[in-house]
Amino acid sequence: MGAIGSVRFGRYAVPLDRPVSDAKVATGRQRPLSQIDVLTCEITTADGLEGLGFSYTTRAGTPAQYAHAKEVGENLLGEDPSDIGRVYERLLWAGASVGRSGVAAQALAAIDVALWDLKAKRAGLPLAKLLGSYRDSVRVYNTSGGYLQAPIEEVKEKAERSLAGGIGGIKVKVGQPDMREDLRRLAAVREHLGEGVPLMVDANQQWDRASALRFGRAVEELGLVWIEEPLDAYDAEGHAQLAAALDTPIATGEMLSSVAGLVRMIDLRAADFLQPDVPRVGGITPYLKVAALADHACLQVAPHFVMEIHVHLAAAYPRDSWVEHIEWLSPLFEERPEIADGRMLVPDRPGLGLTLAAHARDWRLDGVLLGGG
Ligand SMILES: [Mg+2]
Repeated sequence: MGAIGSVRFGRYAVPLDRPVSDAKVATGRQRPLSQIDVLTCEITTADGLEGLGFSYTTRAGTPAQYAHAKEVGENLLGEDPSDIGRVYERLLWAGASVGRSGVAAQALAAIDVALWDLKAKRAGLPLAKLLGSYRDSVRVYNTSGGYLQAPIEEVKEKAERSLAGGIGGIKVKVGQPDMREDLRRLAAVREHLGEGVPLMVDANQQWDRASALRFGRAVEELGLVWIEEPLDAYDAEGHAQLAAALDTPIATGEMLSSVAGLVRMIDLRAADFLQPDVPRVGGITPYLKVAALADHACLQVAPHFVMEIHVHLAAAYPRDSWVEHIEWLSPLFEERPEIADGRMLVPDRPGLGLTLAAHARDWRLDGVLLGGG
């Protein structure tokens, strides 16, 4: 077995074609999103294997992730990359002073994903197969066409294009200051697409408890797959009350950056669809702990964003759920996901099945090589 010989971290800013706005922008809390910031980790072993991992942030945080990764990353050199649990713990202890959530966890996520990619490549298996897969494809819905800055005609047109391209469901952003506008847009999309198309909505945390309940009751008849982040991401009790009060399932969890935060959501039955995010929660290692507990509680898991990693994890979860199609990170990689009949195919290449695109260097802001000298 080859020990870790070198580790390369990179920091990238990947521009979006057009800035997008969700409810956090409509309510004045954030500016439109114009780029995704990415931390990459490439681990090379003495016997010549390579693992690729990445983490991301929106608007702020990647310089801090990069700094933390560089600082604790020295601890990887000489380690056996197959001992992921032990290596992860070593990194946690190296950075124990800054905790097990937020930026610190997200820096470790890039490393952890690279370790899992490497392990699956060593086994000659796609990551889903290494973990133990239940299926070769996962239901997929599109989010990127349903943002609030887009006029309703554009939302309808993009939804149609997505469905024609094999996507199985459509998510529409809601949570505008005037709820009647949300209801109008949603009714227009439902009418345009017809009854049979799975439809989700996402309020990005912009309602109080009373507004969320009012919205939920107003849309019960639309048969939505879920209502996402109706409340503040940390309001576990509020989500639990809403989930109990409504027939429409509740989805949340994307903002939580610790196992403890997500476990609290599970314990309170605050979501019907839990939405952990591998880079945000600290990597695949902590994600798997959350997924095991979610399954034990009979919950659905529909991971947030980063389809490139999550298609493997959704395939390895007992209950058939959904992955989110957002193509924002695609320019970084040579490969594109295969989509057909409403589902995303799990790549049959070893590991994550991803390689950094040659032109990714155009968006690189910073890079460092540890070891390998
Ligand atoms: Mg969301």
